[in-house]
Amino acid sequence: MLGERSLRDSVNKAIDSMLMVESDDSRIRVDEVTGCLRRSYYNRRERSIPMKERLILLQRYMHGISRERKEYHIEDLTIIADADTVVDDAVVRFEVVDDLPSAPEPASLIALNASLWILDKDEGALVYITRDGSTIQFSITRDKRLFDETIRRAKVLSMLLKDNRPPVLEPSEHCNECSYYERCYIQHRRYEGTTLERIFGLKRE
Ligand code: SF4
Repeated sequence: MLGERSLRDSVNKAIDSMLMVESDDSRIRVDEVTGCLRRSYYNRRERSIPMKERLILLQRYMHGISRERKEYHIEDLTIIADADTVVDDAVVRFEVVDDLPSAPEPASLIALNASLWILDKDEGALVYITRDGSTIQFSITRDKRLFDETIRRAKVLSMLLKDNRPPVLEPSEHCNECSYYERCYIQHRRYEGTTLERIFGLKRE
């Protein structure tokens, strides 16, 4: 009978296999280069995807959104794109979000653009869906410079993984939510207002 720890390991392995977590440093998923490379590096080294990102990936998986993988080979590197539905020769990428964005998010644009090149399609659509069923759609045409930049970032990540060297910090608004915040930035203490007021003598005792 499996102990609690073995059961947890087995469940994590099953999720990794369902989400197709890559362990070969020559194989880079597009979604690993759409955001902070340093975070993707740590995710690989931890041999795990942080729980929050797992939930997002699982949510996409359970909605049946990421169904098909396509590979792009360049030199000794393989770039892997999650290809969403192809309708009338256009690639459609779905994103489940809490709030509809007013413009496409850069990470989604990079991922869809890579799918267009890897599937050899000219046009695509990004569809954002909220849990209550509201949607907004953006159409895009493929862009070579953006794909070249995606390839360049994949090469950098692959090389640094092989060299065991973490990429440089990529400070952004996502850092506050990132599991590796404390590895990247100095440790800090949090003071509530009343304590701060006492430290700076702003409050009469
Ligand atoms: S804290 Fe910021 S810079 Fe560091 S890994 Fe996370 S996203 Fe990247």
